[in-house]
Amino acid sequence: MADCTNCGTWNPDDKDVCWRCQTVLPRPVEKKPKRRIMFLGMPIWVWLVVALIFFMPLLFGQCGPTMVPSG
Ligand SMILES: [Zn+2]
Repeated sequence: MADCTNCGTWNPDDKDVCWRCQTVLPRPVEKKPKRRIMFLGMPIWVWLVVALIFFMPLLFGQCGPTMVPSG
């Protein structure tokens, strides 16, 4: 919640400029962002899910229909 430095009007956090006088609002000091372990632009958990989906058929494929030797 930042008050306009020009007219003192309250502005929501997501506002970049004062809604009343269009003065550019000073950005509030942000807290330290949480570090996210990212890999190729995606969080690690996404890759874990992808890996699970990808390897699931392979794992269960071992228990698939067995080849019956003929002849
Ligand atoms: Zn203002």
